[in-house]
Amino acid sequence: MIRLLFNIPFLIKHAYLIFRFESWNKSKIEKFQIKQFKKIFEKAIKLPFYKEIYKDIDLSTIHINSIADLQKLPIIHKELCRKLKYEDYFISNAIPHTITTPTSGSTGKPFHIQIPARIEMIPALKVLYAMRQYGWNPTWKGLEIWREDNSTHKGFMRKLGLLQSISIFKPLDEIKECIEQKQPDFLFCNRSFYMILADYFERIGFSYTPKFLLCTAEEVRPEHRQRLETFFNAKLLNIYGCMESPTLAYTCPECNNMHIFESTAIVEVVNKRDIDGETFGDIVLTNLTNNIMPFVRYKTGDVVKVIDSTCTCGRKSQIIGDIIGRSDDVIHLPDGRVLNYIHFWQRFRKPLLIDNPYLIQQYKVLYFKETNTIKFLFRLTRPNSETEEIIQSIMQNAFNDIQHTYEIVDTLPISKSGKYKIVEIIE
Ligand SMILES: [Zn+2]
Repeated sequence: MIRLLFNIPFLIKHAYLIFRFESWNKSKIEKFQIKQFKKIFEKAIKLPFYKEIYKDIDLSTIHINSIADLQKLPIIHKELCRKLKYEDYFISNAIPHTITTPTSGSTGKPFHIQIPARIEMIPALKVLYAMRQYGWNPTWKGLEIWREDNSTHKGFMRKLGLLQSISIFKPLDEIKECIEQKQPDFLFCNRSFYMILADYFERIGFSYTPKFLLCTAEEVRPEHRQRLETFFNAKLLNIYGCMESPTLAYTCPECNNMHIFESTAIVEVVNKRDIDGETFGDIVLTNLTNNIMPFVRYKTGDVVKVIDSTCTCGRKSQIIGDIIGRSDDVIHLPDGRVLNYIHFWQRFRKPLLIDNPYLIQQYKVLYFKETNTIKFLFRLTRPNSETEEIIQSIMQNAFNDIQHTYEIVDTLPISKSGKYKIVEIIE
């Protein structure tokens, strides 16, 4: 609590920046970003990981005075972080006042990010700002359909009465009853679960129109947007980000472009190429708030449609188009339950990714439609009887209500589409 009070000036400063930056002109934003970048870079070059990355560069000759100057530095990516043991450094050096958060990993390989505890609330401020663009005010109450986790900002929002929650593991009829009873002004869950809800509500003839739908953590294609906005008769506010740089962008309420939160990250789009007559590129980000485990020119693996102009809505921030990110399958069990990757990831999170961070290298969930069976595949870091026993006990505890089998494997298959899916249906 005392620490929270101590951090209030820091949070007020960030709230001010988040609520102001979209009215700044390009050069003011860039100047601010470069100033922040220099502070992060100072920290980065002291870490063994970046010393190795930059070992062939004479840093005294590198002067970064504009976003374009960043191109003087190499691009990093997750595989490189793993190879040079970037996460190991933080796990073996307990740094006070920091938090470790595991990613679900779009390749099924969890990655552990270390952040200063005081920046944990910044994503919540950005979400509030994005909701404000959709007309939100503190009298509008939301209902979160997610796992009931204890993260500080959600607890804070619940205490203020801004957010109520129901577990994503509840049956669909209970979720419907909860919505009917609470009549929330907006919902918060992930895109594939909204699709499940829309199909279910349509089937039972239930109608509910929120003021907007808030979603995150998954790819939203134009067809998804059209389906959800038509069915719920409400705008879909998508928040895009990743653990390496949470809450990176939000959907414009007027034209569906994504506006970047430029006060907390620099986004570059590199390797531009034409696909079906449209230009796409790779997202490379630099996180401007995480000075503990810096990400400098980090390629996320997401591909984005390039939009070079500014948004017609009048907001001056940088914009990007549709993001081609993760796209997992959804499992429909014969008993009526519907499971998407959030169900699995949330149950794995504590026992498998936080308590035993180095147990697995990669995982995958297969659903064989013909036989209605779920099979988990795990690649272990050190397969032996002890680690296999831990997996066995986690599976028994976390998935005792879902009939399943699991197997320890050496390699994991890529899906037919060529893209890695954590959850995949085998027809
Ligand atoms: Zn806009």
